[in-house]
Amino acid sequence: MELIPHVIDGRETESRDGVRFPTVDPFTGRTWAEAALGGRDEAALAVTAARRAFDEGPWPRMGYAERGAILHRLADLMEANLDELALADTTDMGKPIADTRGKDVPRSASNFRFFADHARLSAAEAFPMDSGHHAYTRFEPAGVVAAIAPWNFPLMLETWKVAPALAWGNTVVLKPAEQTPASASLLAKLALEAGMPPGVLNVVHGNGPGSAGEALTTDPRVDRITFTGESATGRAIAAAAAANLTPVSFELGGKGANLVFADADLDLAVSWSIKAIFSNAGQVCLAGSRLYVQRDVYQDFLDRFTAAAEALHIGDPKDPATQLGPLASAEHYAKVTSYLDTVPADGGKIATGGAGPEGLFVRPTVVLDAPPTARVCREEIFGPVAVVAPFDTEADAVAAANDTPYGLNAMVFTENLSRAHRVSAALKAGTVWTNCFFVRDLRAPFGGAGDSGIGREGGTYSREFFTDPKAVVMAT
Ligand code: NAD
Repeated sequence: MELIPHVIDGRETESRDGVRFPTVDPFTGRTWAEAALGGRDEAALAVTAARRAFDEGPWPRMGYAERGAILHRLADLMEANLDELALADTTDMGKPIADTRGKDVPRSASNFRFFADHARLSAAEAFPMDSGHHAYTRFEPAGVVAAIAPWNFPLMLETWKVAPALAWGNTVVLKPAEQTPASASLLAKLALEAGMPPGVLNVVHGNGPGSAGEALTTDPRVDRITFTGESATGRAIAAAAAANLTPVSFELGGKGANLVFADADLDLAVSWSIKAIFSNAGQVCLAGSRLYVQRDVYQDFLDRFTAAAEALHIGDPKDPATQLGPLASAEHYAKVTSYLDTVPADGGKIATGGAGPEGLFVRPTVVLDAPPTARVCREEIFGPVAVVAPFDTEADAVAAANDTPYGLNAMVFTENLSRAHRVSAALKAGTVWTNCFFVRDLRAPFGGAGDSGIGREGGTYSREFFTDPKAVVMAT
């Protein structure tokens, strides 16, 4: 059976005791590979390698252009190996191949290009002082970065962390989610092929608590922890990091509100709303899972939205025509379907969808009449389940949208420019998309308020986190 190895200090390795864990294809239910199961020892070895590469190796001492050339070469290799990378994520977690081939892998490669160029072209600040002194800023690499990733966009979310960390001269230990180990090992191998020195990008596989993940968060030799995953895991990592005062950057859960006003272009609103909740089978932190529609167009919107949801092509994720694959694992399927069971008890009804047709599939599901206190309205389901409700006034819509402990993102559909600006300002969200969804400029801040995270990723925001900005003050 194929082995997915750790990549530590430039070498593909098994765990010291040879222990492995199965990686299961959620569509077939079969174990398609085995990954090395790392623990405290392997995490420590990876940190040692990253530490040495940072303290003694060429990477942090290279110029931005030289580092950038290697990162661009890595992007070239990712594009050349697009099929293998796409198949790795699709097989590991059931995401349609059209998405991994068309979006995830190309965007992952472009992350390396963007952050390489951003680091090279960034201007530092200079402050000529009234006193005659001259102050300027240097952005020194922070050191060893532990990057801990979730399973829903494996390669893409890993590269959002790894690319800026490397571009700014850090070394990295990446721990992918245990459900999706394959693409991370491929990435580390391609990085070596691109000319990255050993120890600069290490990958260690394993679980979270009591395993490789937790070990990385408690290691005092780690200078930064960047984590994407559940809010509850973020709390555990924050507590672990506090012991060493290790700075953290967290991208956590979401319960995105999607507001459709009566003056919206309904064709546009329906099409984006479908993508917002059913792409990746709803396993998206940014999912538009709470859909509020102004009463004048509520029924019209709902009819069209429901019809479009029922028309989505469900099937084998390796079939290029598939739009909705299975959920990522049996464990996650149990979680999502348990939420469906709460709907009638909490006062709502399922208008369309539900579990099936087989295996780990959940059909695009529309829930109506759920009171704001219902679990499906309050908690992150992370599945293809949209809760739809009418609203009357703009103030009602904003109040409903903000009635959540999360604050990751929201969508607004309106043709009224003033309303778009007003509502965007009033929403508690790290990103507001108006008449679109999931469009990202890597220079813009990305992250969440409230339970959705700490800090922001992107452009100068990533620079702040992955460097230790230093003020140099000179007398003239
Ligand atoms: P998770 O929190 O269960 O696991 C994420 C990672 O953390 C895995 O690699 C896991 O092994 C590791 N981990 C778990 N416990 C740990 C611990 N105590 N110490 C160290 N590491 C630990 O999340 P998941 O189920 O893989 O991903 C889904 C979640 O991620 C959802 O809540 C989703 O909203 C969130 N997410 C957020 C964003 C964002 O940008 N805000 C993006 C994608 C996913």
